[in-house]
Amino acid sequence: MELLEVESISKTYGEGETAVHALRQASFSIAQGEFAAIVGESGSGKSTLLNLVGGLDTPTSGQVRIAGRNIFSMRESQMSIFRRRNIGFIFQSFNLIPELTVEQNIVFPVLLDGKRPDARYLEELLDVLNLKNRRHHLPSQLSGGQQQRVAIGRALFPRPALILADEPTGNLDTQNTNEVMALLKEASRKYHQTIVMITHSPSIAQTVDHVLEVADGVVTDLGRVRG
Ligand code: ADP
Ligand code: MG
Repeated sequence: MELLEVESISKTYGEGETAVHALRQASFSIAQGEFAAIVGESGSGKSTLLNLVGGLDTPTSGQVRIAGRNIFSMRESQMSIFRRRNIGFIFQSFNLIPELTVEQNIVFPVLLDGKRPDARYLEELLDVLNLKNRRHHLPSQLSGGQQQRVAIGRALFPRPALILADEPTGNLDTQNTNEVMALLKEASRKYHQTIVMITHSPSIAQTVDHVLEVADGVVTDLGRVRG
């Protein structure tokens, strides 16, 4: 089953002579449980693509379907509930809530959705993210790498069907990068979560199921790896 279907989306910023065609008629699909990487040079349109796929921005034309639902046909209020339940975002900036501890930041979206947090999964995540001894700390008391790991935990904790990550290991050292990649892989294998991740790292891109390349706003599907 295709979890994500992108149909001819284009995004143009600005108008006339200053118009920037950040995405040109991109079409591709990602199957449920697939781990996909988006590669491409800086400025090629990768973040624009990811923001559109997550409904954080609206396309100039085209459609995005997630689990069969056309996300741009939803009202803003429906869209934010849909996002909270189905999509986990991991950005380069962490957007943690400064007044909340590590643990509180991770469970917050689940509480917001009126659900009971899964205590065992929280322990598992804190363990894998190496945050157990920081669980009661505030973001300001953490290093950049630790804050990034909290943001990753927060995205994974509700077990969203789709995880969108914009260079999630960009600020991490090699060991942390390997651990985070293992965690994301487990999320896709064990919980059949679909992951779309922007990465600059060719070695990371070699370890995923499906690779897409963006060059000057044009998306090319480099294909699925059969494993
Ligand atoms: P990447 O993530 O691959 O580095 P982006 O998607 O951020 O690339 O940007 C693609 C192009 O769109 C770039 O030329 C960038 O300058 C332009 N762009 C991105 N966001 C905006 C914006 N909000 N307004 C105008 N131009 C933008
Ligand atoms: Mg970017």
